[in-house]
Amino acid sequence: MQQIAERTGAVLRIDLQAVRYNYRLLRGRLGLAQCGAAVKADAYGLGAEQVARVLYEEGCRHFFVAHLEEAIALRPGLPADADLIVMHGSPVGCEAEFVQHGCMPVLNSIQQIQDWAVLARERQQFLPAIVQVDTGMARMGLSAKEVEVLRDDPDLLRSIDVRYVMSHLASAEDQANPMNRQQLEKFNELRALFPRSKATLANSSGVFLGSEFHFDLARPGAALYGVAPVAGQENPLRAVAHLQGRIIQTREIPAGTGVGYGSTWRSKETSRIATIAVGYADGWLRSLSNRGVAHIAGIAAPMVGNVSMDTITLDVTHIAPEYLQPGTLVDLISATNTVDQVAAKANTIGYEILTSLGARYHRVYSDHKSDN
Ligand SMILES: *Cc1c(COP(=O)(O)O)cnc(C)c1O
Repeated sequence: MQQIAERTGAVLRIDLQAVRYNYRLLRGRLGLAQCGAAVKADAYGLGAEQVARVLYEEGCRHFFVAHLEEAIALRPGLPADADLIVMHGSPVGCEAEFVQHGCMPVLNSIQQIQDWAVLARERQQFLPAIVQVDTGMARMGLSAKEVEVLRDDPDLLRSIDVRYVMSHLASAEDQANPMNRQQLEKFNELRALFPRSKATLANSSGVFLGSEFHFDLARPGAALYGVAPVAGQENPLRAVAHLQGRIIQTREIPAGTGVGYGSTWRSKETSRIATIAVGYADGWLRSLSNRGVAHIAGIAAPMVGNVSMDTITLDVTHIAPEYLQPGTLVDLISATNTVDQVAAKANTIGYEILTSLGARYHRVYSDHKSDN
């Protein structure tokens, strides 16, 4: 193990105990509503199989992915009483594979509803699904007009077991945004046409908007992985991802030396530069060029020069050489430099930092059930 870690440029530690903690915290906020989990995009880059396993142990029974292929990959890792829900619905012609693999589609259009109903009639079964309605994102789900089509033609849903009516919030992290309440009202209006179905609206941030937004089931993703759910407020969740990159070499440069592609940073004095084995091919975004920061033995070292494909360069002039030996790990995502802080410097959101985490990292999972 040690050797594999050393052969790689970076070590990504994934704290599954923190995922458990975050799940419990969210469930505590939800009261009687159930807490599902968005594990799409390989659980936001952290490993869907590992994450789903601990969430199942914590009592989670609703797992949301985007694509059918993600669901098929995850299905063998989850017991049969866990629902695996495909938010994009069925790709055209793949409906039977949902039944074959024990997955449930979100039906987002009249077409998807019709195709699911055809399969149900063929199989002479009442097939489960979630129906999504659009309450203001204009991205997926039935418009109000299409919901009326359903109301006027009850045959469309006759062979479908609509477990939940679902919608998605556009601006839930911004609690003052009037859109939250507008979407809530629209959701209540549209869902009245499905009186026998349960309802699901809240993502991570939605959980923090209050109980009116909770309905029967929430679908948090980012908060489980430690991303701050409410803009401008302290993050109550625990960090899950910890990233350390390895020092390859250090060098002294005279004043006036350009560093990296395009020489976008130039030393003002004699300086020491450390080269770290992480680059944009590892998801360390190029927008962090001359903006990011690493920590070495707790001391901040600014990223200078452009991010390369496989390396970044740090100004470590102020750091003692004994901390800068080749092979030393420096902190890139840590308690002092959180996913959200890195994201702010990269001009993006924590979601993108996590889902970009590289395939070349040596991944180490920890799950100490007793240290909570
Ligand atoms: C990704 C996603 C979620 C989870 O969102 P978070 O903001 O990560 O909690 C929930 N619902 C839908 C429809 C999504 O696409």
